[in-house]
Amino acid sequence: MISVEQALGKILEHVDVLEAEESPILGCLGQVLAEDIFSSISIPPLDNSAMDGYAVRSIDTRGASRQSPRFLRVIDTVTAGSISGSEVEPGTAIRIMTGAPIPKGADCVARFEDTDESERQGTPVEIGILTEVEPGLEIRRAGEDIAAGSLVLSRGTVIRPAEVGVLASLGRSKVMVIRRPVVAILATGDEVVDIAQPLPEGKIYNSNTYSVAALVLRYGGIPKILGIASDIEDSLVAKLHLGLDADMVITSGGVSFGDYDIVREVLAREGEIVFWRVREKPGRPLAFGMIKSLSKAGGVRNIPLFGLAGNPVSSMVNFELFARPAILKMMGKKNLAKPTVEAVMEDAIENTDGRRILARAIVEKRGGQYFARLTGPQGSGILTSMARANGLVIVPEDKPGVKEGDLVEVMMLDWSEEVK
Ligand code: AMP
Ligand code: MG
Repeated sequence: MISVEQALGKILEHVDVLEAEESPILGCLGQVLAEDIFSSISIPPLDNSAMDGYAVRSIDTRGASRQSPRFLRVIDTVTAGSISGSEVEPGTAIRIMTGAPIPKGADCVARFEDTDESERQGTPVEIGILTEVEPGLEIRRAGEDIAAGSLVLSRGTVIRPAEVGVLASLGRSKVMVIRRPVVAILATGDEVVDIAQPLPEGKIYNSNTYSVAALVLRYGGIPKILGIASDIEDSLVAKLHLGLDADMVITSGGVSFGDYDIVREVLAREGEIVFWRVREKPGRPLAFGMIKSLSKAGGVRNIPLFGLAGNPVSSMVNFELFARPAILKMMGKKNLAKPTVEAVMEDAIENTDGRRILARAIVEKRGGQYFARLTGPQGSGILTSMARANGLVIVPEDKPGVKEGDLVEVMMLDWSEEVK
């Protein structure tokens, strides 16, 4: 049996970064930029006003105060998006709105609050300036955000809402990004029934397909749901073949030692098993291998296949440990590890068989310290334990367990890998 680290190492050796494709900027949230983005324009394009007020010559405001205003003739109004045809000459001012280009001749803006505008009716023909205004005040300089010709975003950047906004500010509607992997998802088991069907006695609904598909979506992939295969090899193979145009295949169930545990056999027949047991809990049976896909053109493609254990908690935890980093690597991400925190344990966990335990926990911060308590019974069939959890407490394989008050490392399930 191999360790979690060894298993992850082997998985990452077998998956590659996918190709780049052009995508509309709103479609690529969370994807990795595959080109350097240079700007052909300056942003802002022109010096413009940071406030509503009057564009003036600072020298004309010398000595101004509330008791002794400096009166200037108002010769124009300029709004955002237009350019004044007038020039501010000695003794004059141009009324200006936020974002409007600074007119020629002006070197600063006196805010409305620093004028007597509120005492005047309509658009004033004269304005009193009530304070001295320094040169450059309330002016946003051309190119202060982005200088024309500069590198704005580098290849490898993960696109967040701010990057989407920056791309839009450059007038980019599309951008090259590493494409999202398509992940085929197949449930197995004669007892498993689709959620759209009535539930016959003795059967259970297929939850794994949906929890796994939701995880695929969360980490940026595109789920392709293949449905449910029965516990007969031919059924599994037939359904599996429907997924061989994907970039990854994830099955659930049928990977342990039972009579109907056929995923491994099928994987060995249709490809190559890389490993199938990992020293961890829940979910020791975890088959990973490469499945052969014959393309129409006659070429062979090897697709990574994760055979997750059927228990709903095992399949989710093993997805987080193994399939998640593989998807992130395929998407060109560099940070593959979930952030962890050190927490004070409020329950005890016994480790009886030398495996790494990932226990579902509720992590809370109190008084600057994280605390972790178990979500309740830890059976790998108790999926609500996963719904209650926001972290997985890691009990090392070489420890007999953890006691109340021990410091533990907790993997934070809802934190982004980009948090360091
Ligand atoms: P297996 O790994 O096939 O032996 O399944 C282990 C346990 O997980 C059994 O109790 C199964 O009924 C359950 N199980 C398997 N597949 C699913 C599924 N798709 N949704 C919910 N439970 C499942
Ligand atoms: Mg089964």
